[in-house]
Amino acid sequence: MSHTIRDVSALIDSGFAPSASRSGLEAVARRYAIAIPPAFARLIGHGGDALGRQFIPDVAELVTAAHENPDPVADEALSPVPGIVHRYPDRALLKPLLACPVYCRFCFRREQVGPDGGLLSETELESAYAYLAAHPEIREVILTGGDPLILSPRRLGAILRRLSDIPHIETLRIHTRMPTATPELLTPALAAALDIEAPLFIVMHINHAAELTAPAMAGLALLQRRGIPILGQTVLLAGVNDDSETLAQLFRAMLRARIKPYYLHQLDPAPGTARFHVPIERGLALIESLRGTLSGTAIPTYILDRPGGLGKVSLPHIAAQAKPAHHYSETE
Ligand SMILES: *Cc1c(COP(=O)(O)O)cnc(C)c1O
Repeated sequence: MSHTIRDVSALIDSGFAPSASRSGLEAVARRYAIAIPPAFARLIGHGGDALGRQFIPDVAELVTAAHENPDPVADEALSPVPGIVHRYPDRALLKPLLACPVYCRFCFRREQVGPDGGLLSETELESAYAYLAAHPEIREVILTGGDPLILSPRRLGAILRRLSDIPHIETLRIHTRMPTATPELLTPALAAALDIEAPLFIVMHINHAAELTAPAMAGLALLQRRGIPILGQTVLLAGVNDDSETLAQLFRAMLRARIKPYYLHQLDPAPGTARFHVPIERGLALIESLRGTLSGTAIPTYILDRPGGLGKVSLPHIAAQAKPAHHYSETE
């Protein structure tokens, strides 16, 4: 297991899919990218079925449920120039590329991401910087994608420098799965490129405690020793982490890795992701069950990104108002 699994033959050869499923999975692969890097393939090979469910394709991905939506969080509608998403006045997303080291079967950008997609050209990057510079209300730029940490240290360093030069941008953030997916890419050269003057926060996408392997922790420590704070975001996923014990183990593992659990996301209704759906009522019960058994520092905010670009809301907050959890349930 020294290569990233990128096609159906490699999936079958690794024993991650039965050969009888070949033609169905080929149809999935024509529509959605596949990548399972060695760090995750090893975990799956050692009994990590729950973890593997996130990355192993399934023919169910070709079935769109009635409530699902190709642009579930309206990224496209909120994009003034290529690569920028501006929904909240004080924050903007910058997506320098749409490739990832691992492709999650439940990704809300699954229609856009893939190995050869979305690298912004120099001209497009210049337009993005110009947009950010022309909007003094923007205090924070969030690099996302795709996974910005798979850019070369030189390229990423250049982007961070340009953003830091815009006077009203106070803080920067990078959303990534790279340190757990491909820890070998988290080199001292990358850590040096991230060691900038401006406050930089890294938000790690982690859904299962097993993802925090020793190499991943060692890479994260390179960043933490340079004073870069790391937060965690988790997607609540059926069959992966939708029970109290698994979530408690995950959030405790994050604290041990000096990662502050930030958000627990309700799954966005991207097409073909119904097998991961957890009802909001169940999510609320799970997060409530952690209170009292887990350090308050280990408990993230359970959040819903409302369809149609309406933005994020805290689900416990909504539930506390008159019976509104039903308001946002999939049966609406
Ligand atoms: C989630 C998101 C953000 C960041 O939200 P925080 O609550 O600050 O983490 C910013 N812009 C867009 C478009 C988003 O979807």
